[in-house]
Amino acid sequence: KARVYNFGNKTADGNSQMKNLLGGKGANLAEMSALGIPVPPGFTITTEVCTAYNELGKEAVIDMIKSDVEASIRTIEKTMGAEFGSKENPLLVSVRSGARVSMPGMMDTVLNLGLNDEVVLGLAERTGNPKFAWDSYRRFIQMYGGVVLGMKPESKDDIDPFEEIMEHLKEKRGITLDTEFSIQDLKDLVYDFKDAVKKRTGHDFPTNPWDQLWGAVIAVFNSWNGDRAVYYRTMHGYPADWGTAVNVQAMVYGNMGDNSATGVCFTRDAGTGENVFNGEYLINAQGEDVVAGVRTPQQITKLGSERWAELAKVDEEERAQTYPSLEEVMPELYKELDGIQKKLETHYRDMQDMEFTIQDGKLWILQTRNGKRTGAAMVKIAIDQLHEGLISDKEALLRIEPNKLDELLHPVFDPKALKQAHVIAQGLPASPGAATGKIVFFADEADKFKNSILVRIETSPEDLEGMHVAKGILTARGGMTSHAAVVARGMGKCCISGAGALKINYKARTLSVDGHEYHEGDWISLNGSTGNIIEGKVATKEPELSGEFAKLMKLSDKFRDMQVRTNADTPNDAAIARSFGAEGIGLTRTEHMFFEVDRIKAMREMILADTVKGRKEALNELLPMQRSDFEGIFEAMEGLPVTIRLLDPPLHEFVPHTLVAQKELADDMHISVEAVKNKVSELSEFNPMLGHRGCRLGNTYPEITEMQTRAIIEAALNLKAKGVISKPEIMVPLVGTVAEFEAQEKVIRATAEKVFEERQDNIEFTVGTMIEVPRATLMADLIAEKADFFSFGTNDLTQMTFGYSRDDAGKFLPIYIEKGILKADPFEVLDQEGVGQLVKLGTERGRSSKPKLKVGVCGEHGGEPSSVEFFYNSGLDYVSCSPYRVPIARLVAAQAAI
Ligand code: PEP
Ligand code: MG
Repeated sequence: KARVYNFGNKTADGNSQMKNLLGGKGANLAEMSALGIPVPPGFTITTEVCTAYNELGKEAVIDMIKSDVEASIRTIEKTMGAEFGSKENPLLVSVRSGARVSMPGMMDTVLNLGLNDEVVLGLAERTGNPKFAWDSYRRFIQMYGGVVLGMKPESKDDIDPFEEIMEHLKEKRGITLDTEFSIQDLKDLVYDFKDAVKKRTGHDFPTNPWDQLWGAVIAVFNSWNGDRAVYYRTMHGYPADWGTAVNVQAMVYGNMGDNSATGVCFTRDAGTGENVFNGEYLINAQGEDVVAGVRTPQQITKLGSERWAELAKVDEEERAQTYPSLEEVMPELYKELDGIQKKLETHYRDMQDMEFTIQDGKLWILQTRNGKRTGAAMVKIAIDQLHEGLISDKEALLRIEPNKLDELLHPVFDPKALKQAHVIAQGLPASPGAATGKIVFFADEADKFKNSILVRIETSPEDLEGMHVAKGILTARGGMTSHAAVVARGMGKCCISGAGALKINYKARTLSVDGHEYHEGDWISLNGSTGNIIEGKVATKEPELSGEFAKLMKLSDKFRDMQVRTNADTPNDAAIARSFGAEGIGLTRTEHMFFEVDRIKAMREMILADTVKGRKEALNELLPMQRSDFEGIFEAMEGLPVTIRLLDPPLHEFVPHTLVAQKELADDMHISVEAVKNKVSELSEFNPMLGHRGCRLGNTYPEITEMQTRAIIEAALNLKAKGVISKPEIMVPLVGTVAEFEAQEKVIRATAEKVFEERQDNIEFTVGTMIEVPRATLMADLIAEKADFFSFGTNDLTQMTFGYSRDDAGKFLPIYIEKGILKADPFEVLDQEGVGQLVKLGTERGRSSKPKLKVGVCGEHGGEPSSVEFFYNSGLDYVSCSPYRVPIARLVAAQAAI
């Protein structure tokens, strides 16, 4: 079996299938070359040689491959018309490692190998640029010294020995930048570098290019067993006997005069997805000059150049003179490049991002890879390529990164404005989107400014109205399922939670970060997709739901067999979700309806009532309001199922906690402040999340369940009279025992019967339960005998399975994730290993006694891609998520089914 594989000259010994033997990089270079793409010639020493090296050692392995390597260098020399070690026409090479999987940071690259005191003169001559030649030489010594000769900092707090020498010289010369060194400085550096090598290693820096090459090859083999690689391998479970390949490749230069150039290009527009070849290049430049922004890069195509000129306000004459396109300057080479880009995209069947260099009139392709792109471009490219027949419909769907669809669904920052943004801190990206507004600290003051950002230590149900009014929400505490995060996602409102660096002073109405203070009324901007908090006002843009997006959704529905519902508490949210394709409501949280000003009063009267009679009176006031809420929601979801959950949160959340508000309430109710205070403290709990909530409320105050049931049934009957079909599903929260469910079910069915009797009419409805207490998953077979449906409340199920408080986990979860104790926030990404077992078990046991039992999920995980896939594989009938995640869930459900 061969040990050295050549590539270049539009042929190759290997191909892309040979990753195990040639490593990922080597296999791809071979593939490109065999395709007829002009890659700089080179060769790959196989991973098997690395394994042999580990067994036999240096001498034996060099013996084994010496003649092959020498022959391969000769082949490169022929292709390049240059000579390794020559000072007239030097061939320089790069040496890189390349395992079968990419292992970042395993070994750095050595560039410009083959330089010495004589060859550098040849390079200076050939490029006409002595400064470049000497700078390349000093970089080579630095790279080779660090990577091959071990010239690294001696201890953690030491600086790099070469950097130290450079710092000294800069100080002496009174300069600050590397680019300010003169040719003489660079020569001095080379001398000092070599001196340092001699002092530290006891050996001279190798001047013979062959010695340099063997040194680098052996260093790559050694790097496989270096600390960084071993750590990375163990972490990912990659076995030690995989080994790494070594890639040696000719260096090419784009700075060899006006007949040379370098650039980057894309087969399609990475921003919009438009099918136009585009990119930038510079004549007589090195690769990094294009990205460094020192000179203005020019456009590859004439079309691109004209578009650029329009934006840059450059007139046609100046454009053609000063910034002509490659198409105009080097038409032949442009034609070759255009042919190559078409070939590469067809071959890899995806948009390519390529790097190229023109050396002395000859085009070289250095790299091609699938190009990064925006969400909009991702969708357009996939659908376009499907129409072009390049990919199949399944492939088009699988090309879509679900989370990136978010970008298409919320207002976005203008990318130009974002470039100048000053980020002051970062929190959790709790709800995507872009928001910009003036700081307010109190929910009831959110309408103080036309655009406001509500900044809180944390939010509570009392803040709901203000959250609605604000453009965005920022909290210092709380995780991905904190109140702020859940509510904001439901509203499709931008939110950043748990930004621990913020110090909020409600009294002074200030927000300080890193010693800088912001006041009420100051502008800030939130990027809910990244968690970045930005100073000042950043311009936003409305999202564009293009035709391709609609096509993508239609395609998803063709393959999907799991339903997607939404969590919605208002007719407006329901309507938005429906427009995104929701097939019903999986969760209406009724408590959210009680926080509006006119309702909270009746709610509080109900809570403060000492007698059943008093409670019923207050509930009677709430009844018509609830009924009209439900009518609105049923109407928006006409014909589709709507799951309504009975009251869930602890009553404590509804009572006032400030003295002023308590006084007001006491006056309203004509009772003493003391009485209000006593009730508030009576309701306070040590652990409210595990306290008097869920069905425990309905079971202790059945009149609440009665009122809610009545409101639901009456609403459905009222609509029926108008010819609108509603399909209510009444859901009991936080059930842990069969008896808990049975008791509630009895109240619900009896109340419904009563209403039917009164109205002399009826409707169909079902009564089901949430499965969110671990015990309920264990008892699922018995519960399913009674319940019409299950809906997993994975927020509470996660809370109770891990024993992590939803409202406090934000304090330690980030540390757990940083330390690798947890891979992800389990409130965001379902813990499939643990909590997932309970989802599977609950479903299986439930269906063991009721095979057709409808099972869904309505926790936050219902809109998270990896979790949605898991729910599909667990046999769930539907997922329910916030309106803005409905398209994402539709897509993932299709991807999972493919
Ligand atoms: C849940 O617990 O997953 C759920 C949907 O209910 P809530 O978030 O309202 O507790
Ligand atoms: Mg719950």
